[in-house]
Amino acid sequence: MTIKELDKKYVLPTYGRSDIEFVSANNATLRDSDGKKYIDFTSGIGVVSVGHANERVNRAICEQISNITHISNLYYIAPQAKAAQKVVEASGYDMQCFFGNSGAEANEGAIKIVRKHGERDGEIKRYKIITLQHSFHGRTITTVKATGQESMHNYFGPFPDGFVYADGIDEVESLLDDHTAGVMIELIQGEGGVEPQDKAKVQALEKLLKEKKIPLIVDEVQTGAYRTGEFTASQLYGISPEIITLAKGVGGGVPVGIVMTTLKNVLSAGDHGSTFGGNYLSSSAVCEVVDILEEKKKSGELEKTSLYFNQALEAFYKKHKDIFTQKVGIGMMCGLRVKDADTLTKIINSARENGVMVLKAGRNTLRFLPPLTITKEEIDEGFKALTITMSSL
Ligand SMILES: *Cc1c(COP(=O)(O)O)cnc(C)c1O
Repeated sequence: MTIKELDKKYVLPTYGRSDIEFVSANNATLRDSDGKKYIDFTSGIGVVSVGHANERVNRAICEQISNITHISNLYYIAPQAKAAQKVVEASGYDMQCFFGNSGAEANEGAIKIVRKHGERDGEIKRYKIITLQHSFHGRTITTVKATGQESMHNYFGPFPDGFVYADGIDEVESLLDDHTAGVMIELIQGEGGVEPQDKAKVQALEKLLKEKKIPLIVDEVQTGAYRTGEFTASQLYGISPEIITLAKGVGGGVPVGIVMTTLKNVLSAGDHGSTFGGNYLSSSAVCEVVDILEEKKKSGELEKTSLYFNQALEAFYKKHKDIFTQKVGIGMMCGLRVKDADTLTKIINSARENGVMVLKAGRNTLRFLPPLTITKEEIDEGFKALTITMSSL
């Protein structure tokens, strides 16, 4: 059987897959089973932050797993403690970490922390979590409910109670009450359509929540790990949330989810856990990924790559203003608004045929999440393929 036939026979059909099988990869360049080359402007949806087949990450993982891969959280795990130190120090916040395996799991952990924090006299008095319309927080039953998109709330119910959706940051204040346990936001909505929040509004919300002693959770599953130029977008926005969640890019391709929080004394032994979370394999990857990106940040290389990518994107946008209405995003989390959804689908499919991979976000946004290590040559080649795409629409 071909891979496609095997997949059709044995894998549940939860994804609409493209008809390509990638067999090898290096940095932002991929090859399929026919030997055809592609430039990856998606990094596997923001995951391979340091590029595909990164030699340093691969070496770190191989060295680690030739020794020990997993032993459970019943024992000290050296790379987990080191990974925690690295992400906390990179963030600059006075926080501690919990390690899980995905973005959704990190957000679940964050929700558990604010709910327990909302306990008074043995009862959860503060349980409501305010999230934003068009947000995306994951696919588990709880994080699907936390996601402020009604279309995601079909089937699967009954859902956990207590999620309230604000129509933008402005509306959060009017929804706060004595039962509010926390507010969870993305600083740049990713899946929702590459929508950066207004900095002043976010800072005002942070101040208000601090006054009311309501924890702010920033879901940085997509924006974290230097995607926006700083280790966290929270640093870029100049805020100090009580909780930050990370996943995608922080593992560089290895499954990991991290909850970081200033609320160090809320959970105690037995309140939360994860069998795989923070094991030797994933933690050794996190250590190496953060080291690599920190070095690139300090040397100015990250900034240069972001600038070059954004200049190329701006030039491309200006050439095709008949199709694109706006350039959006921060750092290497960028998008172009497309005049209509049908054209967007056509662009993505045709781009793939021309050898460049791009993503959709929201209803009408062409999304770019290139590896943070993408080279100038790869950027040039990708935009060349996109330009050919535009003339073939
Ligand atoms: C991708 C994403 C998630 C979900 O992460 P998974 O690893 O798929 O569970 C949650 N929040 C945001 C902002 C995301 O971009």
